[in-house]
Amino acid sequence: MNGRHPCIWCTWDNRRGLDSVQWEERSSAHHLEMFQNLQDMYQGDSKNHAIDCDGIEDRQALNVWLVDFMQMFNLPELHLLLGIGQKLYDAILITMSEDEKEHHEAILKKLNIHRSAYHGGAFEGNAMRKITKEVLELGFPKSNSSYITLVKFRCVVDSCFGKHIKGDFKMAIYHFEQTFKQSGLSCSTKVHVLCRHLIPFSTKHLPDGMGLGSVSEQAFESALSRFGRVWETRYKCQEENEKFPECLLNTVSDVNFVNFINKS
Ligand SMILES: [Zn+2]
Repeated sequence: MNGRHPCIWCTWDNRRGLDSVQWEERSSAHHLEMFQNLQDMYQGDSKNHAIDCDGIEDRQALNVWLVDFMQMFNLPELHLLLGIGQKLYDAILITMSEDEKEHHEAILKKLNIHRSAYHGGAFEGNAMRKITKEVLELGFPKSNSSYITLVKFRCVVDSCFGKHIKGDFKMAIYHFEQTFKQSGLSCSTKVHVLCRHLIPFSTKHLPDGMGLGSVSEQAFESALSRFGRVWETRYKCQEENEKFPECLLNTVSDVNFVNFINKS
């Protein structure tokens, strides 16, 4: 893909900057083209299976399915947090002196914030949450433009990355975008997604007052784990059992009921 990272919701890609131009929302034709590109990429690669678009005769049905499929995509809260947080953190760190870095490392240790043993020592979810939360106390140079942008990012995380919206998250995104532009950093796909797609996504797909955390990767994993628990402890039976469909339905119903109570 020549280092090109396209946005999956619109026709923007990371060769473009973060500006106010509204990029075209992806249509089913775009999705089909994307799948065909993937098919080309994977051809001859034994580790991946080619995505067989040619074998599908009813293209119209595929298009409709792809649009439905794309609408099911949630904005990935954890990836946005890690991608944008790490980008800003790295940009601050390269401007710091050895003494400042040493002081900063001591603070991280005191706050029990650790780097991952993998991914080149990047931070994982909980560590990055702590970094954004404690950003004012981490010994960063206060006049650094990436630091100021990370402080604004904290406001975005606070206002809409949790289960519920707090305060004016649209204004928080607006302020983040303004400071990001002034920082001179290149615009990654995740920054574009945050600035251009988070507000429309929330308006269109999230119930009033609910934040991105309500549909995060962890939220899905926790729902899946709850489903497994309910199935194992209350309804589990063999597929051949005539009550199998009823047991499955009861499990879904119980899990949905608990989710409903938790959200109320
Ligand atoms: Zn986009």
